[in-house]
Amino acid sequence: MHTTVDVVVVGGGVIGTSITYYLAKQGVNVCLVERNDIASGTSSAAANGVALQTKPPGPKQNLAQASARLFRNLSEELDADIELSNEGGMLVAETEEQLELISDKAQKAAKSGLTIEILSRKQTLARQPCLAPHIIGSAYCAADSTVNPYLLAFAFARAAKRHGADVQTFTEVTAIEHQAGQITAVVTNRGKILTDTVVNAAGVWSPKVAEMVGLQLPVEPRKGELFVTEPVPPLVRGIVISASYLLSKALPAGDADPRQMTAGAYTAQARRGNLVIGSTRQFAGYNRSSSFHGIQKLAQLTTTLIPAVGKLHVLRSYSGLRPASPDGLPILGRAAELPGFVLAAGHEGDGIALSPITGQYIADLISGQLSEEALVPFSPQRFSN
Ligand SMILES: Cc1cc2nc3c(=O)[nH]c(=O)nc-3n(C[C@H](O)[C@H](O)[C@H](O)COP(=O)(O)OP(=O)(O)OC[C@H]3O[C@@H](n4cnc5c(N)ncnc54)[C@H](O)[C@@H]3O)c2cc1C
Repeated sequence: MHTTVDVVVVGGGVIGTSITYYLAKQGVNVCLVERNDIASGTSSAAANGVALQTKPPGPKQNLAQASARLFRNLSEELDADIELSNEGGMLVAETEEQLELISDKAQKAAKSGLTIEILSRKQTLARQPCLAPHIIGSAYCAADSTVNPYLLAFAFARAAKRHGADVQTFTEVTAIEHQAGQITAVVTNRGKILTDTVVNAAGVWSPKVAEMVGLQLPVEPRKGELFVTEPVPPLVRGIVISASYLLSKALPAGDADPRQMTAGAYTAQARRGNLVIGSTRQFAGYNRSSSFHGIQKLAQLTTTLIPAVGKLHVLRSYSGLRPASPDGLPILGRAAELPGFVLAAGHEGDGIALSPITGQYIADLISGQLSEEALVPFSPQRFSN
């Protein structure tokens, strides 16, 4: 392990590996520290969507579009197959109200430069013959794509190493030393690394890393369950999402119980033919167990939309913890109290899609090529009051 570096990145998920890659590419002397293996946290418990149309117009939509532009050449850039597939995504309406909701969203998205076509029932079934006949239309976004999150994180880490980054797995950060508003060292269970800059990319564990420097970070685990079917010949093109998924994704409003499970159907077929089917949402602490109720709910929602799924065998189910911030936007930028402590957390259900741009922006911020003002909507300071 190098004992003195310019930057230590804590966390080897898609966010930490991406930041390490973009820093190393700029020639920064960077060390990534991950307590388990690469992608052993939420990044290996995700679905595979790089969806644009599910993001609300505004800062998150703009961030997602910038990230999608980076995805275009990422396989070549990282010299790795990340199973990127550009088959588009479909939000499917089963009721008139849902059709109105997705049509309204499509109009708003157009103002942010995102093209979403509203397809009739006939056009929808022509594009996606697996759908049930009761559907009444869809919103189709050609810019939506899928990727293998696991391969993505490993590709970032390997490419970072080729650019000179030191990647330390099975190494846990146990303390961060600081003095007079300046970071001096990161303490791990395998030794100390001297540095003046630390990036906290520890996903749902980022509040615990922030506590090491006396800061509070409002990131909470939002559990999500998924299951994977046996591989089948091509059945689903790109991503198919029920319009009701959008409601399940929204943060609980008013007096809604945050511990109540919500679910929306998400289906995408992976390269090898398996269907990835998600997902539930629930604030349930750090509990990562799969529940019969959750999988049953997802199976019911999905077979209503795609009846052929009802005949498939389920290979495995799993769940992951989305790092949720109070307003649904990621937290990106320097801590005001300790400018050497940089935050890159709170990506909730969008961290895979937002990983390239997060890496690029955080690297640019640290190397002085991007101003703090450019990241204002995501500033950690927005929670100070
Ligand atoms: C069910 C589900 C479906 C999803 N689907 C999608 C999707 O389709 N598209 C999308 O864009 N996003 C999706 N997401 C969201 C996405 O998975 C997350 O936003 C993303 O993985 C977060 O990445 P991360 O790097 O911040 O966190 P993680 O991947 O959790 O990485 C954080 C790492 O920090 C390490 N760590 C923690 N503490 C320490 C320490 N003290 N020392 C060293 N290392 C430490 C952990 O071991 C972990 O590996 C989904 C999430 C879930 C749960």
